[in-house]
Amino acid sequence: MADSVSVQVALRIRPLVDSEIKKGCQMCLECVPNEPQVFVKGTDKSFTFNHVFNPEDNEYFYDVAIKDLVHHAFKGYNVTVLAYGQTGSGKTFSMGTSYSDENDAGVIPRAVKDIFKNVAEMTDRHFKISVSFMELYQEQLFDLLSSSKSTVDIREDTRGIVIPGLTEVAVFNADDTTQCLVRGSMGRATGATAMNAQSSRSHAIFTITIQQQSKSDESNSMTSKFHLVDLAGSERPKKTKATGERFKEGVNINKGLLALGNVISALGDESQKGYISYRDSRLTRLLQDSLGGNSLTIMIACVSPADYNLEETLSTLRYADRARRIRNKPVVNQDPTAALIAKLKQDLQEAQLELMNL
Ligand code: ADP
Ligand code: MG
Repeated sequence: MADSVSVQVALRIRPLVDSEIKKGCQMCLECVPNEPQVFVKGTDKSFTFNHVFNPEDNEYFYDVAIKDLVHHAFKGYNVTVLAYGQTGSGKTFSMGTSYSDENDAGVIPRAVKDIFKNVAEMTDRHFKISVSFMELYQEQLFDLLSSSKSTVDIREDTRGIVIPGLTEVAVFNADDTTQCLVRGSMGRATGATAMNAQSSRSHAIFTITIQQQSKSDESNSMTSKFHLVDLAGSERPKKTKATGERFKEGVNINKGLLALGNVISALGDESQKGYISYRDSRLTRLLQDSLGGNSLTIMIACVSPADYNLEETLSTLRYADRARRIRNKPVVNQDPTAALIAKLKQDLQEAQLELMNL
């Protein structure tokens, strides 16, 4: 793999929903056939991404945009899939964070199926698969797989970002894993806003850790992390008619997304080399490796096609356009301790043989 690779961006335009049709909304986006380009009607603006889905079902979307990344996770690379967009634009639908419809399952259940298919096929290796599930709500980080939904905190050590005490559940098949997803998503904080009755006002981070070791060569051992992130709605609080507690949530959510926006802008701007303010929010600390670091990353930019949402759609398109300029530096995550242990074992064997020959 080349030294640095760009963050990929897939634009996902959902169909008009009933409420938009009832309002008499018109489509404000126009796609170019067979080109990953979109025009914003009534403006002179156009955007080009790695993919444009308008709208396509989840199966096609997964096969084209995500499937290959699962293979890279098995080659030892960290992978991040990040869903961004206003409330009601299709983030949860795309990610499958709240697992419900088997027929149109989103990215997470599909990736999980592929992961266990790979595990079954790669009989020359030992695997340990585990999952964690966190929610970031008003700058507080919740462990969704702990029985008490306890809070956890972020630390940094030589391995990078670590979260002491975070529940890691060992999983042995796809059903185990999706059960963790269901269990965790039921505990998420959700709140009704004027934009989407089921809207989720928090960021959800589902992480699958893949540990593997060659059966014939103990020193060949790798650990990769696959982060699947369903971000909170990116709309400004005024549009949700939020007041009181809801408004406070909006402000806090925007703190994370604002910091994310600043990091994305700084990373995408060649002239701004140097300090990147990952520390401004927990969201950006958590995503430090995914943006500008050791990860293959794809952003799913979710938008409504309705003219009613034009302002938010344009803001998502601009955000996604900046993300596309970020260069990451993914590396194969070889486990140095396994290599060291294998080397020490070999040294010991050689020493024992020498002793026997004395
Ligand atoms: P978000 O998580 O961004 O708030 P949702 O994923 O809940 O938004 O989507 C809002 C509504 O739009 C849901 O009813 C969902 O089923 C529908 N929807 C979103 N994207 C698509 C799509 N690509 N095709 C069909 N329906 C979609
Ligand atoms: Mg959602």
